[in-house]
Amino acid sequence: MTREGNVSEARPSSSGDGDFAGLAHARSRVDILAALRTSAEGLTSAEAAARLARTGPNRLPAPPHRSPVMLFLAQFNNVLIYILVAAAVLKAILGDWIDAAVIGAVAIINSVVGYLQEGKAEKALDSIREMLSVSARVLRDGQWTNVDAESVVPGDVVRIGSGDRVPADLRLLEVNNLRVEESALTGESVPAAKDVTHVESDAGLGDRTSMVYSGTIVAAGTGVGVATATGTATEIGRIQTMISEVEGIDTPLTRKLGQFGRQLSVLILAMAAAMLIIGRLIHQFTIEELISAAIGFAVAAIPEGLPAVVTVTLALGVQQMARRNAITRKLPAVEALGSVTVICSDKTGTLTRNEMTARTVVTTRHVYGVTGAGYAPLGDIEIDGAAVALDDHPDLGALVHVMALCNDARLTEVDGHWRVVGEPTEGALRALAHKAGIDTPMRRIDELPFDSAHKFMVTLDEDPDGGRWLHVKGAPDRLLERSATQLRGGVAEPLDTPFWHARIDELSRRGLRVLAAARRAHHGGDEAGFGDVEDGLEFLGVVGIVDPPRPEAVDAIANCHSAGIRVKMITGDHVGTAKAIAHEMGIVESADAPALTGSELQAMSQPRLREAVGEVDVYARTSPEHKIRIVSALQAEGQVVAMTGDGVNDAPALTRADIGVAMGVKGTEATKEAAGIVLADDNFATIERAVEEGRRIYDNIRKSVLFLLPANGSQSLVILVAVLFGFALPLQPVQILWVNLVTGVTLALALVFENAEDGLMSRPPRPAGQPVVRLADVSMIALVSVLVAGAALAVYFLGLAGGYPLPVAQTAAVNMLALGQLAYLFNCRFVNSTSLRPAVLRGNPWVWRMAAALLVLQLVFIYTPFMNAWFHSAPIPLLGWLVGLAFSVVIFLVVEAAKAVGLRLGF
Ligand code: ADP
Ligand code: MG
Repeated sequence: MTREGNVSEARPSSSGDGDFAGLAHARSRVDILAALRTSAEGLTSAEAAARLARTGPNRLPAPPHRSPVMLFLAQFNNVLIYILVAAAVLKAILGDWIDAAVIGAVAIINSVVGYLQEGKAEKALDSIREMLSVSARVLRDGQWTNVDAESVVPGDVVRIGSGDRVPADLRLLEVNNLRVEESALTGESVPAAKDVTHVESDAGLGDRTSMVYSGTIVAAGTGVGVATATGTATEIGRIQTMISEVEGIDTPLTRKLGQFGRQLSVLILAMAAAMLIIGRLIHQFTIEELISAAIGFAVAAIPEGLPAVVTVTLALGVQQMARRNAITRKLPAVEALGSVTVICSDKTGTLTRNEMTARTVVTTRHVYGVTGAGYAPLGDIEIDGAAVALDDHPDLGALVHVMALCNDARLTEVDGHWRVVGEPTEGALRALAHKAGIDTPMRRIDELPFDSAHKFMVTLDEDPDGGRWLHVKGAPDRLLERSATQLRGGVAEPLDTPFWHARIDELSRRGLRVLAAARRAHHGGDEAGFGDVEDGLEFLGVVGIVDPPRPEAVDAIANCHSAGIRVKMITGDHVGTAKAIAHEMGIVESADAPALTGSELQAMSQPRLREAVGEVDVYARTSPEHKIRIVSALQAEGQVVAMTGDGVNDAPALTRADIGVAMGVKGTEATKEAAGIVLADDNFATIERAVEEGRRIYDNIRKSVLFLLPANGSQSLVILVAVLFGFALPLQPVQILWVNLVTGVTLALALVFENAEDGLMSRPPRPAGQPVVRLADVSMIALVSVLVAGAALAVYFLGLAGGYPLPVAQTAAVNMLALGQLAYLFNCRFVNSTSLRPAVLRGNPWVWRMAAALLVLQLVFIYTPFMNAWFHSAPIPLLGWLVGLAFSVVIFLVVEAAKAVGLRLGF
């Protein structure tokens, strides 16, 4: 076989590569490796880097972004802009050029603001897309290493396992029960079995069993292949199907609000028409006055700022969550987070640290202690504090031997710190083998990898004398079922099952993870099957492994409980271990709280399970398919369920749950794809924080709605009252545009940055299906609209009565609308408690920035001659300000009083 490095100059032209990738399935393994100038030992990292520079990164082009111009133009596609344009045209026809120009300018400013906000939201989501990078296991410099999938190059030897997303098109070199789900390419949803033998050159994509293709998902088994094509040269790159990473900004909530806005617009137009008829027939307004009133009313009433505020709140919230290690893949999950009532969590690695250390070893004759910490291979195996020698303990030797052989983990020392490459459970057993000083001169012939349904792993090994052995390690109950004998002093005797159950219970009551080992001589061929280990094994003993709880998860569980959220542990581990850890972590209050095992659950009907899930918080020895039943049962009981998962078989349960939570570190690509949220640190505490964040986001959206709608209400009320009672308009259309615009670009955004309210995690979850705007909120919106409109009208009439000219009275009324809205902003900062406390002045600097901006804009509006000319405004005396401030304080206090009554009544 040709080694790489000295052959790189002999690389064929790129068009040759293209043809070549198309034929890879029909070539033999030797042939393909030679053609790619690589070998079964993979590339050197230097050669890989050189190839990467030539082929470019292994990725598909990002989904095309809407161009900035299109994004800007899209802003004009809304009802308010239509009305503004119509209004500007009307004004121009009437010869009112200044008004026409001002209205046109406002329309453009509105679109610019919308464009900037949307751009900010898109950028927030983009930065999250980048966090979801995928890694690949490749053979570089003769070592299996994890690299970013983007740096895989043709010729790389790549290993894939169940749950992985295939990183490139691979010609398979080795397979072990490999099945691949290729629906992304072929539309076929049944996983296809794969093999290493080449197929006919004219075989269709679905029949190329010697290949696996980039973007497809490994459903089962493992395989090794050589990359034949990467990036856009892959099959998926050719058909340009994008694998969508994060969904767009569209969520049920934004859709609902959008629909609400459209319905409101229709209603507003109808009201405007009715108003016109009344004004014309009863009060004989002139056409020009009526047009002004209609424009003013429509502009005032349409809540055009609402969708943007919701979008920005969601996008910034999602970004905030990502900073705290919860990466959102599906925005609707963020909304659901706020109403979660049950979190179902894996144990190992999520609630516990997944840093395993063997503590106890039990054989037929002895109970041994193990010293040493972490994965460092330093320590002893002892009885009563005295280290033992393996020669005197043949049973111990046999047990540790199996644990070392039936094991894929490796320990490495980096900067004096020992780490495990592979599974932590196996790392603990590898460290144990080192402490025992065992060497294992056997050659592995075949294996049955561990999976969470079987709960054990088998290797077929050959000793130097040619003897073949099946070595089994796994859950003790599964191994005891399959054993006939046990080893005592190197001699087989009949199995004593009750003895072992007592030992296992004892270890698991201490919260230890228990693994057993067994073996059997093999007289078959080169392949191991599950049939070979059905019975007749020789049981060797068990090892107790500690996996300490994550301390922050303990706090997070307590927070969940006070927030009215139940936490349920769903684990493949032994029921005793699960109970002990659940108790230690505060999931259940006593060590003998009820628990369900997978087999008990299996035997239950779904109605029985629905009854049980309310009571039981610990589920042990479960398989992935049990998770779906648990989720369904909880949902049938009206719960909103978040469910974690890592293995490929967990994906359906994650899809089914209201919020699927995947593990970013140890999770498979299959689960990440199914999940709404990916935990960058696999930590339960991150879920709890995400729930908190979800509640905060939802609160802030509600606050924004509560804040924005009365602005529309009060402004339109002023016009409505004027027309209905037949007096001169207190506000000119352009003035309404002005208040609308200035409060829209300033105050409305302050609440987006609002912190979580006190007690956020000590109140019960929001009932699912509760609308954002509740009935009590509607009364509040109506009350504030009336208050602010009343104040504006009062200021207007006081001005006129005081002998001030019309423009001064109108300007004072505009100012009143702005000041009233500012006062109400402080009411909205806290919706679940009073704002009548010093805290209302602290905590969100944006409130002050926006208030200052509003005041500056108002000063410009009132006191600069050019604004006076454009907006028909006029300087107002100090008295005008004082009256306005006084009314604002009254508004604030009345709203607080109403809020207190509402809170007392339990709204
Ligand atoms: P969990 O992740 O909830 O702890 P798993 O499905 O990973 O559950 O493991 C279930 C059981 O399978 C464990 O209690 C252990 O007995 C056994 N087990 C776990 N990992 C391995 C492994 N690598 N090889 C053999 N058996 C294992
Ligand atoms: Mg596990």
